[in-house]
Amino acid sequence: MRIFACPGCSRVVYYDNLSCLACGTELAYDRENVALVAVVGERYRAAGGVRRRCMNTIAGCNWLTADDEASECFSCLLTRSRPVEGEQNIFDWLAETSHAKRWLIFQLDELGLPIVSHRDKPNGGLAFDLDATTDDHRVMIGHMNGVITIDLSEAQDSHREALRVLLGEAYRTMLGHFRHEIGHYYWMTLVASDPARLEAFRERFGDERQDYGQALTAHYSGGVAAWQHDHISQYATTHPWEDFAETFAHYLHICGTLQSAGAFGLSMAGPGEELGARGSLTSHPTLTPQSAASVRDILAEWQPLALALNLVNRSLGKGDLYPFTIADPVVEKLEYVHRLVSGR
Ligand SMILES: [Zn+2]
Ligand SMILES: [Zn+2]
Ligand SMILES: [Zn+2]
Repeated sequence: MRIFACPGCSRVVYYDNLSCLACGTELAYDRENVALVAVVGERYRAAGGVRRRCMNTIAGCNWLTADDEASECFSCLLTRSRPVEGEQNIFDWLAETSHAKRWLIFQLDELGLPIVSHRDKPNGGLAFDLDATTDDHRVMIGHMNGVITIDLSEAQDSHREALRVLLGEAYRTMLGHFRHEIGHYYWMTLVASDPARLEAFRERFGDERQDYGQALTAHYSGGVAAWQHDHISQYATTHPWEDFAETFAHYLHICGTLQSAGAFGLSMAGPGEELGARGSLTSHPTLTPQSAASVRDILAEWQPLALALNLVNRSLGKGDLYPFTIADPVVEKLEYVHRLVSGR
């Protein structure tokens, strides 16, 4: 994430802010100009024309519309369906989930990844179906032909954490779900449509033509062998598609967090030369996915920082912020994603 300044008082404000807590300036995010701008009333006059506040402001959306005609912002317009509001918990879950979605869309924009909305392309365009699991209605998170289904009930921390423990996962967040599912979307739009990329994908991740249903059944019936030496997570072992989606999500985790660290000038000189073959433990993140020749350059900045962040978390009695280790074969998979995203 980038660092933003309040146009009223120049203090640092979060990307998510609806107003500046210091000076009270009403804020909104202008996607076209990648800026938090001051809004008076409902409208804002940008370089590209008049925009207005998204109608979902009440649910925390701080984006502007693309023009004066629209009532919802680009991110909200990607939502194809959602439950009828009414119950307070559904409203809260929608707000929380849409927040994670705006973080995703911001990052995709930063990476220059194409987003074709279902409104422009009904068959295969990107859409989000937001639905909530209830006692008699189970929602499966997933992707199908551009449509990403998200289970809103996972916006509830206690529920999502219970699932994480039940499934034996190291990490489970709403943003993580979005980053994983968008990986399936980009596999469909960038990999499947390109014979050379598809061939390179099969060499790296395996042949996706194996039966997907059987693979998932085998995964959930247990008995998975050791995975740490060639996958980023146990779930990635289920099928080459899942391996790709997990790796893609992981690439977004690393690049997004490094961007935040770099934006604040967070850098580490490290405790010295005696910490193994890597030499000094230093990190001065200034790389972007576009400027890094190889994912190895990104990881050289990331791994010391991840270690430090984990120790900071442990010092507060919390679990690791970054509960992963990256084996060499996973570096190769990340390299594949890096080339795909950076257009190399
Ligand atoms: Zn301010
Ligand atoms: Zn919106
Ligand atoms: Zn998946």
